[in-house]
Amino acid sequence: MEVYCANCGQDRRVAIVERRETYPVRGEPITVDAKVAVCQTCHQDISVASLDDDNLETAFNQYRQLHGFLTAKEIVHLRERYDLSQRRLAGLLGWGAITIQRYENGGIQDVAHDQILRSLSDPNAVKYYLLQPSCRLTPGQRAQLEAALQARPTVAPWERVKAELTRAMNRGGIEQGFRSFDVEWLEQVVLWFAVHVPGELYKTKLAKLLWLADFWHFRRERVSLTGLAYARVPHGPMPDHYLALLDVMETDGVVTLNEDDFDPKKAAIIPREPSDDAEFSAVEMDTLRTILRHFGAKRAVDLSEESHQETTWVRRADGDIIPYTEADTLRMLDGLLVPDAQNPFA
Ligand SMILES: [Zn+2]
Repeated sequence: MEVYCANCGQDRRVAIVERRETYPVRGEPITVDAKVAVCQTCHQDISVASLDDDNLETAFNQYRQLHGFLTAKEIVHLRERYDLSQRRLAGLLGWGAITIQRYENGGIQDVAHDQILRSLSDPNAVKYYLLQPSCRLTPGQRAQLEAALQARPTVAPWERVKAELTRAMNRGGIEQGFRSFDVEWLEQVVLWFAVHVPGELYKTKLAKLLWLADFWHFRRERVSLTGLAYARVPHGPMPDHYLALLDVMETDGVVTLNEDDFDPKKAAIIPREPSDDAEFSAVEMDTLRTILRHFGAKRAVDLSEESHQETTWVRRADGDIIPYTEADTLRMLDGLLVPDAQNPFA
C-alpha cells in the first residue's frame, strides 16, 4: 500500500510494523503494541489516521482492563439482559440520552458511572434505580422493565437472546414503518446486499443501504422493508441495535465480519450463504434492485454526507429515532421516483 510521506514529499510504499508505544489516557501512560506505518524509501514513520485511531482504541481498551472498567461489549450485554435500549438505560439512570451510546462506541466512562453500570448486574440495583426521582422512564417503559426483571433467566440460551432482541426491537408503529421485525428476515435482506453490492460491503455502508431501502420501500408501499427502527448517530442514520444484530448474524453463521487491519470500523460483511431471490416479493425485489442500482457503488462516507443534507437529519439530535413519516422528505430518494399513475405518493 502507498501513503503520502511528508518527508519524501510523495506517495511511498509503506510497511506496517508493530512497536511498543505509550499513549496518555486520562493522564496515565498506557503502553500498547501499536501498528506504525514506515516509509520504505526514507524509513521515517508516517502518520496514518486510521492506524492512529486503532492504536488509541487499543490503549483505551487496555486502560479499561487495567482499571477493571466494563468494556463496550459488556455494557451491551448488561443492557440486553434487561431488554433496555441505550436511551432507556440512560433514562433509568437519569443520564444524558446519548451517554450509553458514547460508552458503547469507545468513550471511557468515569469511575462513578462504571460502578453504577457494574452494579446493574444485580437486578435489585435495577429496581433501586427505578425508584429514584432521577429515573426518566415513562410508565409504559417502567412496566416493560419490571416485566423483564421478572422474566430474566440466569443464563440466556442463544435462541432466547435472539428472541429478547427481537422483542426489544418490536416497539411497533411508525418507528418501524408498520412492519414487525424478524431477525431471520433481516438476515435475508443483508445476505442479498452482501452478495450483490460490488466490491467490499462495509458495515457502515450496509447501515446506509438498509436505511435507504427501508425508507424507499415505505415511501412506495407505506410499510418498511425490514421493520428496523433508525436512530440519528454522528455518521448518519443507524439501525437500532445494529452492532448486536451484526453479532447475531455472525453467530447464526449467515455472514462473517472481516475486520480491516487499517481501520476496525471498516469491518466488511462477507456472505456465508447464497442469497435466494425467491425469498422476496416482486415489490421487495424491486426495492432492493433500485437501491443497489442507485447507491450500491457509492462509498459509505459519501452516503453519510448526503444523508447529512436531509432536513430530517438537520432537525434531529443524536440518539433520536427517525420516524418513517420522514421518508417523503428525503431528497436522496427523489431521484428514484418513476412517473407512475398507480403510485399516489409519487
Ligand atoms: Zn519517505
